[in-house]
Amino acid sequence: MHAHNAGQVALIRCRNCNIKRFFKPAELREVYGNVPIETLRGRMTCQMCRTSESIDAELLHLVGEESVSVRYRRLVGIKFVRVIWRDE
Ligand SMILES: [Zn+2]
Repeated sequence: MHAHNAGQVALIRCRNCNIKRFFKPAELREVYGNVPIETLRGRMTCQMCRTSESIDAELLHLVGEESVSVRYRRLVGIKFVRVIWRDE
C-alpha cells in the first residue's frame, strides 16, 4: 500500500438498508480493478437487499481514534470468476 493511502478507507453504504461497511481501498482494487470509487456504486451489491442501485461509495480519511476503531470488511478470497469467451 502506498504511503498516500494511509488512513484512507472506502465507505460503502446502502441507502436502502442504512448499512455502512468499511473496506480497504487496496482490496477493492484487487476485486474491481483500479477504478474511481464512484464506479462501485453500480457494481457492488448490498448483501441485505441484493440490489446495487442504493449503494453509495466514497473514500474517507480517518484520523486519530476513528482510524484505530474502524472495523473492516476484509477480502477473504475471490471465489467466482466469470469467464468470457469471444469468437474471433
Ligand atoms: Zn441494502
